[in-house]
Amino acid sequence: MTSEHTPLLQAVEQTPRLTQKIAFYIGTGIIAIVVLCVVLSGSSSNGDLGYIQARDDLVDAISSKRIGELTKKIYLDGPHLAGQNEKLALWTKDKFEEYGWEAEVETYDIWLNRPVDHSVALLDGDKIIHELSLEEDRLEVDETTTRSDRVPTFHGYSASGNVTGQLVYANFGRKRDYDQLVARGIDLKNKVVIVRYGGLFRGLKVKFAEELGASAVLIYSDPAEDNGITEKNGYEAYPYGPARNPSSVQRGSVQDLAFHPGDPTTPGRPSVPGADRDEPDGIVSIPSIPISYRDALPLLKSLNGHGPIFGEWQGDLTDVDYATGPSDLLVNVYNEQVYDFIPNRNVIARIKGEIDEEVVIGNHRDAWIIGGADPNSGSVVTLELARVFGELHKRGWKPYRTLVLASWDGEEYGLLGSTEHGEDHAEHIKKKALAYLNCDMCFSGSRFGSEASPLLSKIIYEVTKGISNPFNETQSVFEGWDAQRGGAVTGYLGSGSDYTVFQDYLGVPSLDMSYAAQAGDNVYHYHSNYDSYYWMTHFGDVDFKAHSAIAKIIGSIAIELVGSPVIGFSVEYYAAGIKRVLEDLLSNPNELSHESDALLDVADELVKNSKNFDAQLDQLREDAKTDLPWYKFWQKYLLRRRIAAANLKLFYLEREFIYDEGLDGRNWYKHMLFAPSRYTGYAGQVAPGIAEALEDHDVEKLSKWISIIQGAISRVSNIIE
Ligand SMILES: [Zn+2]
Repeated sequence: MTSEHTPLLQAVEQTPRLTQKIAFYIGTGIIAIVVLCVVLSGSSSNGDLGYIQARDDLVDAISSKRIGELTKKIYLDGPHLAGQNEKLALWTKDKFEEYGWEAEVETYDIWLNRPVDHSVALLDGDKIIHELSLEEDRLEVDETTTRSDRVPTFHGYSASGNVTGQLVYANFGRKRDYDQLVARGIDLKNKVVIVRYGGLFRGLKVKFAEELGASAVLIYSDPAEDNGITEKNGYEAYPYGPARNPSSVQRGSVQDLAFHPGDPTTPGRPSVPGADRDEPDGIVSIPSIPISYRDALPLLKSLNGHGPIFGEWQGDLTDVDYATGPSDLLVNVYNEQVYDFIPNRNVIARIKGEIDEEVVIGNHRDAWIIGGADPNSGSVVTLELARVFGELHKRGWKPYRTLVLASWDGEEYGLLGSTEHGEDHAEHIKKKALAYLNCDMCFSGSRFGSEASPLLSKIIYEVTKGISNPFNETQSVFEGWDAQRGGAVTGYLGSGSDYTVFQDYLGVPSLDMSYAAQAGDNVYHYHSNYDSYYWMTHFGDVDFKAHSAIAKIIGSIAIELVGSPVIGFSVEYYAAGIKRVLEDLLSNPNELSHESDALLDVADELVKNSKNFDAQLDQLREDAKTDLPWYKFWQKYLLRRRIAAANLKLFYLEREFIYDEGLDGRNWYKHMLFAPSRYTGYAGQVAPGIAEALEDHDVEKLSKWISIIQGAISRVSNIIE
C-alpha cells in the first residue's frame, strides 16, 4: 500500500496499467497533432497580421523634426561628389549599425572625370570682347555657397577640348530642334551650340549636336522654365526671394544614359577592382559646359539679327530675339577634364527576415554640390526609415522578408553605384528581390507624383490614401495628388535615378516618388550651389513635413511588402496599362495590321485574366485576415498553400518581360516594356521595341517586337489563368 510516506519515485516506477498506457498514447498523439497543426498552419508572420500594427507604429514614429536635424547636422558635412567622401560612407554605415542593421561598404572602381579648368569667351576675330565668369555668386547668408571646397561648374563625362566657332542657338537641343535647324539649311559643323535646359536629358542635347558635327555645346538655364517666378515679373532672386539667382548653374552628367548607365568601361559587368575593361563607351567626344543665364545673355544677344526666329523657341530673357544664328562673332570654349578610376562606395544594410527574399529601399548619397534636395532630402528620409525600422526591430518586430537599405554612390555621373551593384549581384537580385523602392529628390516642390511598375500602382494608391497631405491636412496625399494632377495615376519609369538597373535590367518592380516643382513654387536650383540647407529651410520644405510624408509612404509600402501574407501587387493595373499603351501605338494602320491585332487580342486576354486573378488575390487577403481556430489547421494549411502559390506567380511576373538580348542598339536595356526614351533619356518609353520600329518605319523590327511581347504576354496570361 502506498501511503503519504511512500516515495514518489517508487510510484513512478510501477508498471503502468492498460488505461494509463492508452492515456499516454492519446496524449502523445494530441501533442503530435498540435505540433503538426502549428507546423502546417505556420506560426510565422507569413499568415499573421503583425505588420499592420508595425506599419501604424512606423507612421507614428517618423519625425519631421528629426529629419530636419539630420539634414542640418550631417549632410552639410563635407563634399559629396562621387567617390569623394569616404567619411560620409563610413558615417552612414555606422549610423545604420547604431540603428540595429547589419551594414557593409562595397567598393567599385569607376572611370570618371574631375574638372581641371575651363573658360568661354566671345571673340571678334582674335580679340576677346567678353569672357564668361562660369562661377556662381557667393552669398553671405548661404554658407554652402562660400565654401572653399565647392565644386566648379562642369559636366560629368564631358570631353576635354579647346575649340572656336560661330554660335548657333538650338532651343532645347531636342532631336526635332536640330532637325528644324537642318531643314532651314543651318549647318552645325564646327559650330558652338548653345541650348537651354529642359525637355530632355542633357547628355542627349550634346550627343545630337555631336552627331551633326558641332564642336562644343553650352547649356544654360532660361528663366522661361521658372513658371513665371522671375525677376522680370517682380520677384526677388534667391537668397532674398523665390526667383532663380541669375548666376545659378545646373551641373550634371552628359553620359548617354539611354544607351547604358554605369561604368563606361564595363557595361553589363561589375567594375570590381581588377575587372577587365573595354574602351569607354556612351561618352560624347565634344566638350560641353553648363552656364548661368547671366553668362548666356551676351552670347544670345550676339545672335540677334542672325538667322531665323522660331516662335516656340522663345525664352524669357530681355533683349534677346532667340535667333538661331550662326553668329558673326566667334566663341571659344576651353574645357579640361581629367579621367581616372575612382573608388565609389555603396553602403548596404539589412534587417534579416524569416526568409531570404528581399525588399530594397535605395537612395544615392553623392551630389554635385552639397545637395539640399538632391539627394539629401532622400538621404534623410532613408536615414529616418533606418532609425524607425531599427526601433521596431529592437522591440521585437521581425519582417517576414528581408529589408535592405542601400546608400548609393556615383548616381549623379551615371547611376554608377547602383548599376555596378545590380550587375555584380544580378543572379541573387533576380532570384530574391521582390521590389525596389527609390527615394532620390524627395522634395523640390509641392506637387506629389510617383512613377512605378504598374504592379505597384495599387499599393501606392492605397498607402497614399492613409497619409495626410503635408500641404493640406484636411485631405490625404492621394486626394491632393488626385486634385493637382486631374487624376492620381502613377507614371512609367524612364531613367535618371537608381531604379534603372532594378527595373530595366533585372526586371524587379520598382518605384520612385517625390514632391516636385510646379507652377507657383519657389524656384528650385537643381544641381546648383543654391540647392542648399538655406534654400530648403527658407524656400523649400521649411518644416520637413513633405519629407516626413514621403518617409511614411515609402516606409508603409516597404512594411507591407516585407510583411503582408499576400504580396501587395496588382496585375490588373499592369495588364490594363500595357493594353492602353499598345492600343495607342498600334491603333494607326501599320504594315502589320494582322500581327498588331493578334497582339492586342492577347493583351485583351491578359486584362481579363488579370481581373480574375486580382479578385482571387483580394479573396486570399480577406481569408488571411480570418483567425482560424487551431483545430481548423488543415484549412489553414491549405490557405497557406494557396497564398504561397499566388505569391510565387506575383514574385517573378515582371521577370517574364526581361528579354536577355536587350533592345536594338542598346542591349544593356533588357525590359521589353519599360526603358528610357532614346530621344529624351529621362522620360519612360513603354514597349520601346515597337515604338522605335514604328518611328523608324522598320517592318522587320516591328514584327520581331510584336512577336517577343506577344510571347511574354501569353506566358503571363497562362501563369495567372
Ligand atoms: Zn539625385
